Amino acid sequence: MIDTTVFQDKTAVYYTLGCKLNFSETSTIGKILREAGVRTSRKGEKADICVVNTCSVTEMADKKCRQAINRLVKQHPGAFVVVTGCYAQLKPGDVSKIDGVDLVLGAEQKSDLLHYLGNLQKHQEGEAHTSALKDIRSFAPSCSRGDRTRFFLKVQDGCDYYCSYCTIPLARGRSRNGTVASMVEQARTAAAEGGKEIVLTGVNIGDFGKSTGETFFDLVKALDEVEGIERYRISSIEPNLLTDEIIEFVSRSRRFMPHFHIPLQSGSDDVLALMRRRYDTALFASKISRIKEVMPDAFIGVDVIVGTRGETEEFFENAYRFIESLDITQLHVFSYSERPGTQALKIDHVVTPDEKHKRSQRLLALSEEKTKAFYTRHIGQTMSVLMEKSKPGTPMHGFTANYIRVEVENEPSLDNQLVTVRLGEWNEDETALKGTIL
Ligand code: SF4
Repeated sequence: MIDTTVFQDKTAVYYTLGCKLNFSETSTIGKILREAGVRTSRKGEKADICVVNTCSVTEMADKKCRQAINRLVKQHPGAFVVVTGCYAQLKPGDVSKIDGVDLVLGAEQKSDLLHYLGNLQKHQEGEAHTSALKDIRSFAPSCSRGDRTRFFLKVQDGCDYYCSYCTIPLARGRSRNGTVASMVEQARTAAAEGGKEIVLTGVNIGDFGKSTGETFFDLVKALDEVEGIERYRISSIEPNLLTDEIIEFVSRSRRFMPHFHIPLQSGSDDVLALMRRRYDTALFASKISRIKEVMPDAFIGVDVIVGTRGETEEFFENAYRFIESLDITQLHVFSYSERPGTQALKIDHVVTPDEKHKRSQRLLALSEEKTKAFYTRHIGQTMSVLMEKSKPGTPMHGFTANYIRVEVENEPSLDNQLVTVRLGEWNEDETALKGTIL
């Protein structure tokens, strides 16, 4: 039994780095502390507890985590500092040595943090609690409110793929998930709280169901029935797991949006093989064609990594031509970063930072071209837009079903409302189309 009297009237500040999944998990940690009596500290107020949820996707991410911890320690002198997340799981020793850190919790421990907080007395030295990779098994459900409009529902955690460049399976453990029934329950709760849009998140969400004998398609069908949720978006899904039945279901669904985010990582078959990805460019191209056949206006975002070990100039040129040929909307371009413990370190050919930068710039320019063309061909169309909360005195923004960002004049009563809008020209900074509410 945990004595929660120690938490009464205490305040906490939360800092999250990395992916949507981390944000969703931080919000669950916040909920646990809130239920124990801890209030979120107001802006400028000194907190009693600092929680940092870290990321370790690149070397830069590790550095940003250390900087964030140092900053919070300075801003909240005397606060009890807890660090969790991927960097904490992978490097507990390093993190616990950072000045001011009291507690380091690994992947398996983070949802049980009340148990580790004790009486909130600062420690002489950081205390680390992590589990070996094979023991990371539990699935901590979480559904966070990103803002008033959008919720992030964690449907799956961990990954069994072991791509050669990726450190995530080492930080998050094996693929696992909650049941379809528990996800439906969380979606119902989000709807009861006024949520209209849910983004399904996870590390490898297409793998959903492995630990419960269900499938991602079962989940999609069940969520589609939840009353009150107007929109679902499927975040990043591996191309080999995006089945034709899912694509067709989305094309017929009123709730699942024509919006996909698919990691390609490289448009060269040679590099894909070095990366140990589970598909080739032909499969990827066939998925894009299938989506476009049944949803010609679907937004398709694609992740690409440049400068992976083994990506020679010739391989990059092949990749560029392949990506250029795809009917996609946007590229998310990442520069390869060497991660300790990964198989990619055994590949000889190393791309220089300068070359990585050049390749990244070329792909970003290509992305801009594709996004502009996609937006521009929608000018003049009438579409439904879900408006998001705005700051007073600034224009409001929202998204169409196919993820076009729309700007309208500020009208607070439209917050979290679906409105019909005629899409006009680009806004001033070319980040959205101006809309006229009909
Ligand atoms: S699918 Fe590959 S890149 Fe994605 S998390 Fe799993 S191992 Fe990492």
